[in-house]
Formats: sequence, C-alpha cells, structure tokens
Amino acid sequence: MAASLVFRLHDRGPQVVREVLLERGWEEYDQEEREAEDWNLYWRGSAFRNSEYHNLLPWQRLNHHPKTVGITRKDCLARNLRRMRATFGSALYDFSPTAFILPNDYTRFLSEYSSLRVTRGPSAYWICKPVDLSRGRGIFIFEDIKDLVYDCPVIVQRYISKPLLISGYKCDLRIYACVKSFHPLTVYIHQEGLVRFATEKYNLSSLRNLYAHLTNTSINKLGPFYKAAKERVGQGCKWTMSKFRHFLQSQDINKLLLWQRINNIVTLTLLAIAPSVPSCPNCVELFGFDILVDAALKPWLLEVNYSPALTLDCQADITVKRGLVGDLIDLMNYTLVDSLRERAYRRHGFKRLCFRANRPLHVPTPPLLPKVKEIKCQKRRSGGRPSQTLPLIKTLRQPEKRNQKQSRRHAPVAEYQRHLPPVDSNHIHAVNQTHRDTTLKLIFGPCSRTNASVVSRHMCPALAPRLTGNRSLRGSEVTNHDDTDSEAEAEHPGVADASSTRDSTHRALGFRRPKSPNIHSGTHGPVRVERTKVLNGRHVPPLRVGDFIRTFPFNAATLRASRQDLDVKMVLRELHQLTAQLATPGERWRREEETTGGEEDLDALLWGPKDPPLLSQCFKPT
Ligand code: ADP
Repeated sequence: MAASLVFRLHDRGPQVVREVLLERGWEEYDQEEREAEDWNLYWRGSAFRNSEYHNLLPWQRLNHHPKTVGITRKDCLARNLRRMRATFGSALYDFSPTAFILPNDYTRFLSEYSSLRVTRGPSAYWICKPVDLSRGRGIFIFEDIKDLVYDCPVIVQRYISKPLLISGYKCDLRIYACVKSFHPLTVYIHQEGLVRFATEKYNLSSLRNLYAHLTNTSINKLGPFYKAAKERVGQGCKWTMSKFRHFLQSQDINKLLLWQRINNIVTLTLLAIAPSVPSCPNCVELFGFDILVDAALKPWLLEVNYSPALTLDCQADITVKRGLVGDLIDLMNYTLVDSLRERAYRRHGFKRLCFRANRPLHVPTPPLLPKVKEIKCQKRRSGGRPSQTLPLIKTLRQPEKRNQKQSRRHAPVAEYQRHLPPVDSNHIHAVNQTHRDTTLKLIFGPCSRTNASVVSRHMCPALAPRLTGNRSLRGSEVTNHDDTDSEAEAEHPGVADASSTRDSTHRALGFRRPKSPNIHSGTHGPVRVERTKVLNGRHVPPLRVGDFIRTFPFNAATLRASRQDLDVKMVLRELHQLTAQLATPGERWRREEETTGGEEDLDALLWGPKDPPLLSQCFKPT
C-alpha cells in the first residue's frame, strides 16, 4: 500500500501551508508517531541546518535552497548587486537604489552625500535600514547627515522620493518568485502578488511619519487609519495584484513592459548568486521580492525576503496566499501518494539503501545490517507482523556474492530505479561533460535512470565544505524574512560568497524530472497548464503551473544558457533584447527560429489577469 504524503512544519507554522496540504490529503508529521525520516516536505521559516541538506533522502524536499543569503540579507544583496553592476555594466543592473553598507562604506557615503548636496541642494533623501532586521523595524528616513545615527550594521540607501502614488498613498509590490532549481536556473513568478500601501498620505515634509513612508503591513496595521476607508485604496493596506493591474489599465499604463522589467529584476538578482548556490535538486524556494514603482513607472528592488509572510491578515491575503501555496505545491509535482518512501521504508530499511543506490562505485559497500529502529518501525507499520527486512536484505545481497563487481554496479540500482524519480538526461550529459571524475561517469553512464537527487557527502564532496560552514554565520546574521510565524531564528547558512569560485562538482547531482504531474487545471484559460516537454532532447520546464508563470528560461537561448555553466552574458543579452522590444511598441518580434537557428519555440507568457498572452503573440507581425 502506498503511503500518504507527509509534511513537516517547523514551529507549527505557517498555518496556511498546513491547511492547504491537509485539504489535499497530506498528513502532518508527528515525531511521536513517525521515524525521523518519514516525511516528504519539510517547511520552515528559518534556515535548515547543514546536516539537513546532507541527509536528504530521495523523497524529501526542503523549502529553502542552501546559501541564498547573498540576496536575502540587505548588505549581502547590496554587495552582490554592486559586483554585478561592476562586472556586467549598469545598463541592466540599474534597478537597486545606490546603497552603502555602514560603518564600512562611511567614507564613500560621505563623498556621495556631499556631492549630491552640491548638485541637488538639500533635496536628496536617504533611508537607513538595519541589515539584519525586517518588517520595517529600525528604519528611518533622513535628509541631513546629522540625523544619521546608528548603533548596528545598517545600509543607507537613496530614498526613492517620487514613488507612484495611488490617491496620494505610497505602495510597493510583493512579488512571489519560486526558484524551482538553481542548476539549471528555473524561475517562476506568481501572477497574484500583493500591493502593500502606506496608510497616510505621502508627504516629504514629514519624514518621521512611518505610516506615510513605509508600506510594511506590520507597521501600517497599527496605524490610526488602517481601518478607515481611504480614497480609492479602501480599507486596510493591501490590494491583490489583479486589482493593481486593473488600476494600471485604467491609467493606460504599459503594464506588459512593467511586468517584464519586474521579471528582469528577479532574474538579474538571482543571477547574482546562482553560480554560487550548491545544487540541491530536492529544494524549492519561495522568495518575496519587494518592488517599489516610481512615478516614472520604473521598478526598483528594495529587498528580497527569505521567508515571505504567509499569515492571513485580510481578504487580499486569503485570496493571494492560499492560491500561492496551492500552486507552489503543484509546482513541486508530487504524486498523490508516495510509494517510493513507503516501499523503501518497509522493505529495505530506507536510509542505507537509498544512499547505496547512489554510492560511488569505488566506495566499499558496507554490510547491510538492519537497525533496531527500522525493525521496530516495520513491526508497527505492518501491525506487528514479522519484519520483512532480513529476507529482503538477504535477497539483495545474493547477487553480490555471485558477481561482486557487477552487482555493485547494477543490483542495488536495479532494485531501486523503478521507484526513484528519473534524472534529466540532458543534465546527466552535462554532468559527464563537466566532470571528468570517473566515479560519476560510472554512476550516470550505464545507469542513466538512477536517481541522483540525494545530497550526500559521498555524492557531493564539494558541497560538504560549503555546507559544513567554515564560514558559518553568527546568530545575528539573519536574512530578511517577514514571516511573523517564524521570528525565532535557529541556525543560518554561511554567507554565500558569490564571488568565490564555484566548485562545479555540485552539479553532479541530478535534476528531478516530474513524475506524473499533479497540476490543477482550474477554470482558467487555454494556456493555463503546460506539461513538461522536451526541446531538442532537453527537458523544458512547464510554462505555467496554476498562477506561476515560468519567467526563466524564457526562450531557447536562455534555456541553453542556463545549462552546464550558467552563461550570464548570454542571458543578459537576451533580457536586454526582449525588454527593448517590449519598450518599442509595434516592433516586429524576431521569432525564435530567426535567433536560434530553427529550434522549436520556447515562448514565455506575459502578465495578464487570467490568460496572459504569449510573448510571441504580442509581437506577431500584423
Ligand atoms: P524591511 O525588511 O524592514 O521590510 P525594506 O527594505 O523592505 O525593509 O523597507 C521597508 C519599507 O520601506 C518598504 O516596504 C518601503 O515602503 C520603504 N522603503 C525601503 N527602501 C526604500 C527606498 N530606497 N526608497 C523608498 N522607500 C523605501
């Protein structure tokens, strides 16, 4: 009998994740009832321990990739974007307000401040934010340097003083981006984000009034006008993205261009860390990108939230976040039940054998002795019937006796490959090309359907030193997460040094291709769901899943660029071209085959209420 899917929530939250999963027939993990490894999805607001990545089993997923602090902490983000701007130019990397990390950058800040004072007089504004706090805590805005007082590491950023105002109220956008994988980079953006409003009218003569200048819900819900019916904005302080799109439409604003610019920001930001994030195919992550649109309709990145709040404060939250979580689960492509976990668990004492399926061939096979815990557990599951562990182990070991060399290569794998998710064949090819290591070739070559999605020290020696954290963060080095359910921080990943050379061995880990997609089709438009397809032998992630739209890769060139060693220059060129075309209405879209030598189209979807148009449809010659 196949097992129900099991989720595990750290610190009892977030509640909406629990509700959505229970509605779909999942069971909640209970440590009194279940073995430590008996779960499919572990969700936590704070970072996972290094050991949790190392010990992942094939059926287990985590909701954070390792080492993403390079964008989720304000100072790391500023540093990484500065580096990208220096390397690739400011033509594309011009979306984050100039920032200084104090106290280190104090002299540079002083010189910028002084020169602006000379050119612009006192009308340049700055915002000071503690690097390791979130939800608006510790933030203030200033004009005169004498008001800059800080007692912890902060970033001082140019204040976007002319924001887009709706009936006089400032707002910003919370964009939900899901990184399905960093290797290859695969990004989805949810159509239904949130718009968060300040609750008092914007006014530069009252910089201390946080209800007018900050759009954090945690601040504004405490303000005197939170419940008041504000002109056009209404009650509360949030809109859904659909409502915002209607607003844009009513103002005759080119919303497709705005959307594409926001997509660019998300992609360009992720490119800053993608090469340095270790590959962990069993991780999926939802980031919250905070985007401020200015009066000239230019979007600016304010920050990236590691663990965007999933609390349901108002109707807009309910509409957006329930759908978001549902779509995220769909994006993970779970089947309804997990026979893999159950079978491995019941029959073989799962932990050892799952690792063994991926064991490098030169590592001697350890004796397979059942653990007392496993036998106990199997008894419990089989209602007290005698354990099956011993006979099965015996069967499994017999071929080893007959032909030890051959059985090491095939027998354990053959036993398992029926149950393990297949590896993307293109990725295997990439692995074989990139890594001369014969051990990996032996594993991926003859056993091309072997699961390679376990992050283990055996399989991923390069990951071990990175994750065991010779540069672990101190307790105070937290990332931006506005998840009010998970304020208590546990442990944090080491600072992602995006400038460090990537040890490409981590890419040896496979790419989990969906088994049978469990995508809800809902009542939506014709392009609502697209199943995984293969383009010239390469796996192409679905175009959309629920309201998640694939924004990267967005064409055949970026699909190629995302493979093997991420070709950042090529991606930047494509982004630049696409944005230029969107910015020039009426220009004929250069079809994929023109740019990529006749390959099948790999199109992207644009923004739309429910049925967004395909890019190619927008630019088709009339
Ligand atoms: P936190 O992590 O504390 O939420 P943010 O960087 O998101 O910090 O800033 C909080 C709020 O302050 C934003 O939602 C936005 O309204 C405002 N804000 C932040 N940076 C800027 C900026 N550079 N220009 C204008 N407003 C800003």
